[in-house]
This record gives sequence, structure tokens and C-alpha cells, in this order.
Amino acid sequence: MSEVLVLVEHVDGQIKKVTLELLTLARRLGAPSAVWTGPGYSAEAKARLAEHGAEKIYVADSADITDYVVAPKVDLLAQLVSSVSPAAVLVAATAEAKEIAGRLAVRTDSGVLTDVVGIEEGLVADQSIFGGGVNVRARVTKGLPIIAVRPNASPVEAAAGAGAEEQVSVAVSDASKTARVVERVKEEKGARPELTEAAIVVSGGRGVGSAENFSLIEKLADSLGAAVGASRAATDAGWYPHQFQVGQTGKTVSPQLYIAAGISGAIQHRAGMQTAKTIVAVNKDPEAPIFELADFGVVGDLNQVVPQLTEEIAKRK
Ligand SMILES: Cc1cc2nc3c(=O)[nH]c(=O)nc-3n(C[C@H](O)[C@H](O)[C@H](O)COP(=O)(O)OP(=O)(O)OC[C@H]3O[C@@H](n4cnc5c(N)ncnc54)[C@H](O)[C@@H]3O)c2cc1C
Repeated sequence: MSEVLVLVEHVDGQIKKVTLELLTLARRLGAPSAVWTGPGYSAEAKARLAEHGAEKIYVADSADITDYVVAPKVDLLAQLVSSVSPAAVLVAATAEAKEIAGRLAVRTDSGVLTDVVGIEEGLVADQSIFGGGVNVRARVTKGLPIIAVRPNASPVEAAAGAGAEEQVSVAVSDASKTARVVERVKEEKGARPELTEAAIVVSGGRGVGSAENFSLIEKLADSLGAAVGASRAATDAGWYPHQFQVGQTGKTVSPQLYIAAGISGAIQHRAGMQTAKTIVAVNKDPEAPIFELADFGVVGDLNQVVPQLTEEIAKRK
């Protein structure tokens, strides 16, 4: 069975959930081989990858990989592609990994598919394109299929793999060393899950009315163990930080449950959330476009509905 390379996403050695989703997908396409880049590899990381089906784990922990912007990771993947001739390369559809996918496609003269939300028999990918407005099924017809899959788009299922470890030294070309990382600043992390990885997202829009009132959204999110998101109207107003903006010019989320409170459902907002499995909208305007998209809707004032919802959830715990 051909190998399927899966580029591991990790932060300081903590493997991100999307990697486990990719390994689960890769098992249907061939023998999953995890590709670890940078420091932080540990026995715990190895066990976690193997538990989710990694037959092989290529480990490239070279300073060159972390000191330079994306290109060395492309060098590494290109090197592995040429030595193992995989059936496909899977990466997460994050900003960095999509850049890696694009560069690798150029390097290997292959086709690339991004923002994929599912992969079927014959490596046919379901893609959400044009800001989520159109869904297409596509297949790479030239070279190696390089596929960037959205976080949360597919389930995580554990299944043991051999987890055979292989240290890889990567020959980083001079051309890949033209942009050096000079400083890394750690983003303050709260107790809430990361927005793009969260299974539940509660977002607030202009209807929330003020920065202070976002505490209603936060309380509901915390009662559900959810991440908080916001529309651009809310972030532009300075009510919530820009990094939590969901939409075309913000983050793309694909959670199991997306609750939109006081959000009208503009096309640019939908672009970032319409692949959520279940959408619940709270809006005082029954004609708001978000209701066309929502699986469940509450017509009402969020100042009343959201606290009641939080209270009901608390009672069930
Ligand atoms: C190039 C471009 C890129 C953009 N990118 C993004 C993006 O990434 N993300 C994004 O979100 N937008 C983006 N926008 C902006 C987008 O077009 C909308 O303006 C924005 O999404 C509107 O945000 P909103 O739904 O919060 O506000 P509004 O459209 O003003 O809607 C507010 C909603 O709240 C409801 N409401 C008001 N009070 C209450 C209450 N008390 N209780 C319940 N409901 C209430 C109203 O009925 C209304 O439906 C972009 C626009 C452009 C041009």
C-alpha cells in the first residue's frame, strides 16, 4: 500500500487535532506517514500519532526548518515525495500549510486542492470555494495529489499504526533561506479552545451592542466549552479582538455547532462558517439572511435569549 504523507501541525510538541483528522482520512487512502518538523518530538507525540494510524513517522528536527519561513518544510516534503513516491500529501488548510501545499505543487509539478472538506474514493475531494459560496468535487489530474483539508471537516478515529520512526535530515537549499525568522512572539492563550479547532463556536455580531455585552457571548461559550468568534462589524467596532473575526477576511471555522448571535449573515461572514455542521441563529429580525442558513433559529432579543440559554445549559450539567 502506498504511503500518504501527513504534515503534522503542532505547537511546542502538542499535536493539533487537525493532524489526527488528517491521519484518520489518510488511512482510507493508503498507509499514513506522519511528517514531523521542528523541535518538540517526544515519546508522547509518537504514541499519539501511532494511536491514530501513523505507520511511519518521519522526524526532521533541524534548526533550518524552524529558522526559515516555510520553504525548508517544502524542501523536506519534496525530498520525501521523491524518495517514497506517496499516493498523496495531506496538510491542514491553515495559512502556513496552504502556502506549503502551493509551493510543493509547483516544486513537484503537481495539482493542489485547498479548503477541502472531504475526500472520497479515487482521491476525489469535496471543496468549499469562492468564500464558501460554491461546493465542488475535484480530483488532481497531474502529478501527485496535494490536498489541504480544513480543520474540523472530518472526524478523528483512533486505530493503531506501527509508528515506525525514521529520522530525516533535510538538505535545505540556499533559495529556501532567503527569509529568516528573527523573533517569535507567543500569543496569549486563554482557557478557551482555539477558534479554528473548536468543536463549538459562539459568535457575536453588531447586535451584541457593545464590548461589555460580549460577556454574554463569553458566558454562553464557557458553558459549552466553546470558542468565541465575532463578525467583522463587532471587531471593527473594537468590541472584540480582530483575531477572533470569522469570515472571508477572518478565520474559517467548521465546528460541529456554530451559534450566531446578533449576526445578520452577510456573504462575507458566511464564507467563514457555513461548513459548520449545525448552525443556530439568534436574531431579533425574522427576515435576517442568517435564518436561510441556520438549522435552528430563535427570533428574539439576544439580551434575553442568550442568558436564558446559558442558564439552561448550566442546569443540565
Ligand atoms: C471585502 C469585505 C470583507 C469582509 N469580511 C468579513 C468577514 O471576514 N467577516 C464578517 O463577519 N464580515 C465581513 N465583512 C462585512 C460584512 O459584509 C458585514 O458587514 C458584517 O458581517 C456584518 O456584521 P453583523 O452581522 O454583525 O452586523 P449587521 O449586518 O449589522 O447585523 C446585525 C444583526 O444583529 C441583529 N440584532 C440587532 N440587535 C439585536 C438584538 N438585541 N438581539 C438579536 N439580534 C439583534 C440585527 O437584526 C442584524 O441582523 C466584509 C465585507 C467586505 C466588503
